[in-house]
Amino acid sequence: MNNTIAIRGAITAENTRESILCQTKALLEAVLMANQVKIEEIIQITFTCTKDLDAAYPAIAARELGITEAALMCMQEMEVVGSLEHCIRIALICTSSIVTQKTARHQYLGEACKLRPDLATFSLALDGPAGAGKSTIAKRIAGELSCTYIDTGAMYRSVGLYCIQRGIDYTIEALVNEALEDIHIDLTYENANQRIYLNGEDVSEAIRTQEVAASASKVATYEKVRIALVEMQRKLAQTKSVVMDGRDIGTVVLPNATLKIFLTASSSERAKRRLMEYQAKGMEVSFETLLEEIEARDYQDMNRSVSPLKKAEDAVEVDTTSLTVEQIVEHIIGLLKQKQ
Ligand code: C5P
Repeated sequence: MNNTIAIRGAITAENTRESILCQTKALLEAVLMANQVKIEEIIQITFTCTKDLDAAYPAIAARELGITEAALMCMQEMEVVGSLEHCIRIALICTSSIVTQKTARHQYLGEACKLRPDLATFSLALDGPAGAGKSTIAKRIAGELSCTYIDTGAMYRSVGLYCIQRGIDYTIEALVNEALEDIHIDLTYENANQRIYLNGEDVSEAIRTQEVAASASKVATYEKVRIALVEMQRKLAQTKSVVMDGRDIGTVVLPNATLKIFLTASSSERAKRRLMEYQAKGMEVSFETLLEEIEARDYQDMNRSVSPLKKAEDAVEVDTTSLTVEQIVEHIIGLLKQKQ
């Protein structure tokens, strides 16, 4: 049965045509994605802008997204003393066979989260060296808090894998920069598990080899690669609550994250954990090789000139060497609740 529902959203923008259109698109995409609404299901969208935004009609962004049949209307928001400035609001009416008015997910993004603190999203930045437990912890927290886990390392691994598959020498920055244009990475979620697609191919398993890890660590030192992937990561976090893990999440990708955690563990403990992971997959590799590989990656990650791995000043350091996964998860969720 099709329901007719109304979904609200808001975002802030600068008073330039580019910013108004870009932010309106981000907002519309967030509303459509969060509610699984298709363009042809949209009936009407009302946009309002505060008086300080007059450089463009936000409805243009909707047309540019292909929303050509719905009725669109732009208006000026009423002026209320002390209200949020530079704000674009939308009310979108659509049909849906999936979402009801009760389950509709309204989107108040960035600064506009202040308008509906009850619906506010959060971001948890989880950084640390290889094998510190980031992905295990991040997945568990995302599961417990029903939010999205974003594994940024998988993106660098995909760039590395692309080069390996095509015989591109990834130690030569110019070659990787050139290849970047042909690399399209998509993240999807199946039963809350992230799958990563490289040019349409599911590479979620193929990226989990030592060879790919080493190539990822190398391509991650290149500025152009980082700029492209950081932009993608920020976009993903703009629209929903996320737990994002990596090396530069608290320092570069999400400097305003709700909570920043820096996970550490001794290198021998981390090599031991990796050994268990590889053994569980039936892969033959020695502890010494893994320890060497982890220490080499640590060195490369901490000493590169662009976005090196380091603890953000406002991050909380958690040494996981002698803690259980349950203890760490409980500790971090407790810290996050204090921040919200
Ligand atoms: O976390 P994971 O081992 O999958 O990451 C692979 C490599 O990608 C890391 O060794 C690191 O060099 C790089 N990386 C990064 N910044 C991130 C995530 C990963 O430089 N945010």
